[in-house]
Amino acid sequence: MTPGPVRRRLADGREILYFDDEPGRPHDAVDSRPLDRVTTDSELRWDPMFGGWAVLAGHRQARTYRPPAGRCPLCPTRGEYATEIPDASYDVVVFENRFPSFTGAGERPCTQPVEGLAVPGYGRCEVVVPTDVHKAGIADLSPGRVRTLIDAWAQRTDELSHRPDIAAVSVFENRGDAVGVTLEHTHQQIYAFPFVPPITARFAASMADHRDRTGRCLVCDQLTHSLDAGDRTVSRRTKWSVVVPFAARWPFEVNVVPHRHVRGLPDLDAPERDELAEVWRDLFRRYDALFDQPRLPTIAAWHQMPSGTVDGHLFAQAFSVQRDADKLKYLAGSESAYGQWVLDVPPERTAELLRAAG
Ligand SMILES: [Zn+2]
Ligand SMILES: [Zn+2]
Repeated sequence: MTPGPVRRRLADGREILYFDDEPGRPHDAVDSRPLDRVTTDSELRWDPMFGGWAVLAGHRQARTYRPPAGRCPLCPTRGEYATEIPDASYDVVVFENRFPSFTGAGERPCTQPVEGLAVPGYGRCEVVVPTDVHKAGIADLSPGRVRTLIDAWAQRTDELSHRPDIAAVSVFENRGDAVGVTLEHTHQQIYAFPFVPPITARFAASMADHRDRTGRCLVCDQLTHSLDAGDRTVSRRTKWSVVVPFAARWPFEVNVVPHRHVRGLPDLDAPERDELAEVWRDLFRRYDALFDQPRLPTIAAWHQMPSGTVDGHLFAQAFSVQRDADKLKYLAGSESAYGQWVLDVPPERTAELLRAAG
């Protein structure tokens, strides 16, 4: 049901995919830049002390950092300056990151920790650009465009999760200087990991444990509890709800949850995608209205089960690193050294503020 993209190559061999609102655009423009092939030297090192993989990607130090006006690599190519996107206009475009954390192919996911030995950091990192308008945020896009974007996320998840060396596919958006965004032009990222990242692993274990103990889905149960309580609900629609988790960790944290028990983005049907397009725009409109501040610094991330997991219930987690109109949430000793979050705004108050911002 996911429409296929138009596939082209950039000058250095990286793949670029166009997802159009209406099919039939030619995408004939050729990337004329004299680009060298991307050489990367990502490596994975297993951390036996705290568990998990450390990813070393030294080449990323050279990535484009806050380019001056007129030199945005995500804008369309119009005139002399050739950007990452050869076309003069586009709807949604996806391309391989020139400065990836993971690149190349392996035979299978890195499931076995190898102590003291570096492993090549294979996998794939993609950039998703949902508009050719430099200043447009998600809330500025039409529902139809956000719908095309959702189709792109679903298609990329489906294709990448079928690779034999990929263990998990993530789709996320960083927004705002305070989150460390190096490019102002709205974009999302897709990481196809060669291992299961720690929070995904912990979530998958919680899902399995809850299923063993109760025979039910943890996310279905949590959604029911939240909607029954009511005081943490931001918005409730036919197919989706936005709720603040009972034990939220981040300022203005919400979960965007499909009511149907669907495993991942590719499993969403057309009516669910249509409604999600409205819910997604509405969420970012609320964030921007909170402090009357466009682009409240936020992170929005889809949680999908590791490849090969049969059970699962998709949801997105979105939150801010700003806890008040003029105060940032810093990850200091408690969070950074011990992984222990302390929240300043109660979840029930967060829901109240986000409801009022609608
Ligand atoms: Zn731009
Ligand atoms: Zn469920």
